[in-house]
Amino acid sequence: MNLTEEALLLENAEILRRYRGLLRAASKQISDPADKKKIRKAFNLALDAHKDMRRKSGEPYIFHPIAVARIVAEEIGLGTTAIIASVLHDTVEDTDLTLDDMERLFGKKVRNIIDGLTKIEGVFDFTESIQAENFKKIILTLSEDVRVILIKIADRLHNMRTLDHMRRDKQLKIASETMYLYAPLAHRLGLFNIKSELEDLALRYLEPDVYNEIEQKLQKSKEVRDRFITSFVGPIRRALSADNLRFDVKGRTKSIHSIWNKIKNKGVPFDEIYDIFAIRIILDVVPEKEKAEIWRTYSIITDIYQPKPDRLRDWISFPRANGYESLHTTVMSPTGKWVEVQIRSRRMDEVAEKGYAAHWKYKGENGETGLDEWLLKVRELLDNFREGEALELLDSFKLNLFNDEIYLFTPKGELRTLPAGSTALDFAYEIHSELGDHCLGAKVNNKLLPLSHKLASGDQVEIISSSRQRPHEDWLGFVVSGKAKTRIKSALKEEKRKVAEEGKEILKRKLRRLKINYSDADAQKMLQHFGLDEPLDLFYQIGKGGIGSQQIRDFYKNEGVRSWYKYLSQKFSRNPEIKKRTAAGGKEILQKIKQEENQLLLGDNLDAVDYNLAPCCNPIPGDEVFGFVTVNEGIKIHKTNCPNAVSLLSNYAYRVIKAKWTGSQIPAFLVGIYITGFDEVGMVNRITKLISNQMKVNIRSLSFDSNDGIFEGRMTLFVEHTRHLDELLNKIKEVKGVLRVERITENSSNT
Ligand code: MN
Repeated sequence: MNLTEEALLLENAEILRRYRGLLRAASKQISDPADKKKIRKAFNLALDAHKDMRRKSGEPYIFHPIAVARIVAEEIGLGTTAIIASVLHDTVEDTDLTLDDMERLFGKKVRNIIDGLTKIEGVFDFTESIQAENFKKIILTLSEDVRVILIKIADRLHNMRTLDHMRRDKQLKIASETMYLYAPLAHRLGLFNIKSELEDLALRYLEPDVYNEIEQKLQKSKEVRDRFITSFVGPIRRALSADNLRFDVKGRTKSIHSIWNKIKNKGVPFDEIYDIFAIRIILDVVPEKEKAEIWRTYSIITDIYQPKPDRLRDWISFPRANGYESLHTTVMSPTGKWVEVQIRSRRMDEVAEKGYAAHWKYKGENGETGLDEWLLKVRELLDNFREGEALELLDSFKLNLFNDEIYLFTPKGELRTLPAGSTALDFAYEIHSELGDHCLGAKVNNKLLPLSHKLASGDQVEIISSSRQRPHEDWLGFVVSGKAKTRIKSALKEEKRKVAEEGKEILKRKLRRLKINYSDADAQKMLQHFGLDEPLDLFYQIGKGGIGSQQIRDFYKNEGVRSWYKYLSQKFSRNPEIKKRTAAGGKEILQKIKQEENQLLLGDNLDAVDYNLAPCCNPIPGDEVFGFVTVNEGIKIHKTNCPNAVSLLSNYAYRVIKAKWTGSQIPAFLVGIYITGFDEVGMVNRITKLISNQMKVNIRSLSFDSNDGIFEGRMTLFVEHTRHLDELLNKIKEVKGVLRVERITENSSNT
């Protein structure tokens, strides 16, 4: 990019202006001049490292780290270390600077944060599985230093704010990730403002029409709303002032995303959403008097306006898990409109807007207990998952995110938070997974109740346990917390695996006594015989005694082979229509079969069902085929134009099943071809060269005969598909001297 001298000067001035903006935004956190110096050092380093880089918009790259650092300082409230790490967050990834440089210049903490950020960067991809894995990584990194995740969220927020310059497909990808991962994370960390902004920005790109429509409606109704708010708030202001309370009043409009959610989920049209805005009253009050003054305010307001009794939300006595504290009530305005009023202290408001960082500020350096508690919970959840189950983790994590919470007490009066709908068993698992495994029931408010009992906010719960108790399958039917579900599932799996291991040994022992060698193939047939899904189930049943010696003997004695047939015909002819098939004739039956749903997929290795290709017609992928259930040899695949087809179809219609080739990874098939033509010198060589070199087909056998200047050749070849074969036949036809080429079926080769 060529910039004139003047433009460069202007740009440098702009960079400095933005840097000063950052310092101003951070002035609350950094009073020490030494800290300011360090930030300056980081800024100079980043400025130099990124000096030749530009963003998609054409702006100098350094705008981005400065903006991220500013979000981190101003909107999240973090201090010097996080600001330095933010300013440098893209340097290790994108420039020549190394982690060692970071450590040397700014210390270990900054190094670790940038390391975490660099690792998270780039591995994001919007396929579900990868994302879940990454999510796990994020959480793991997060537990080392939570600032990594906070800076990452700030990074994402700035990228979302500047998404306009990206390509449409990138916009969609980034916006989806934001909606799916970052907004819930921000919510979980109590960054309410950032969460709302992320959601709104994401919606703007994901559903531009919806976004614009709601935005316009909000714009249009703004004046009316403002007038309403002023007249509604007037009496409250006067009454609170008369009571000598110090306060601020704000009218807050709901985010576009949450309005859209309401329209979508509740089916309410825009004009009928009564809580499009809320009135927020923020009290300036010393911490010791917070609660008393909030309730006093509540009482003053509800003296003026009638409250809706079921809409009181007390999050000052029971703060939410993400640290949110506030008292919400919904009252009736003189015009007959319900209005939500939120009452909170200045401190609560800051925590609600900025999240935990603000929380620490009020609690002092060592007051990170709430966050630690949360991290510990996520950690536990993670420990209970094995590799590959990350998606499930994400699900149960999200489950916990969006469910409403209930507040419960241990016998000692400790507060525990669980998703709404939790049972006594969930509570037991919440206390300890061992306690959950052995839970028999619970005393809820001193009353003995079963473990499936649904708890309500405020319940005091004492768990009754027994060392003999074990997790049961049906427990999964009534637990709701992710932790309990995960733990029960893995306990059940573990238990089943143990029993199955024994079961397999038992089976082998029993077979030895019957003088039969154990084979996996037999086990496979037994599955079908006993109507089970996988070997684990079979061994488990044997281990448990559900399948005994007699049944195993029976299987081998007379059912072994027959059951195979029975299974196949059941699997494919559950439809009574099929049984009614008459010997009306092959064509008609084929027509009927075509309409059936169940079908055998050929070439799909995952399908447990075995099949063979019938030697009478040698079908290959691409041929139109059907399956025929034989008594001794499983399923045979015939071409629909096989010479035997008519008789099979009309005499044994009930044994015919629909079959289809699947497209992928089909091994080569053996096919015969017949060629005839003028016998010229080098003819055989030309044809075989064409087949093996040009078409890359393997020849299995060939024979050429020559008689009176006419040759006849027969070959068997490995081809992959009829398309492949057709192509090959056409190529051979083009060879000079070739008169005829055709595929050999059993019949024609015999002539
Ligand atoms: Mn970045």
